[in-house]
Amino acid sequence: MRRSHAAISPSRASKCECGAMRLSHRACPSCGKYNGRVILDIVAQAEREQRRTRRKDKALRESGQVTESKEPAQT
Ligand SMILES: [Zn+2]
Repeated sequence: MRRSHAAISPSRASKCECGAMRLSHRACPSCGKYNGRVILDIVAQAEREQRRTRRKDKALRESGQVTESKEPAQT
């Protein structure tokens, strides 16, 4: 009886104008828009992520922990 109000309500998902599902009151993770305006710089974010993974790959290869590279072998 006492905890009747303590139930977890399901998280509200809505559809973004780009077509992806996003949480309401959150910026869309795929296009970075919120309320029709671009809030997140998705392009810069992707570039940053790419640079980070590339650097990590390089570090791993140099340290010899990864023997084979993900890229197709050049012959
Ligand atoms: Zn979107």
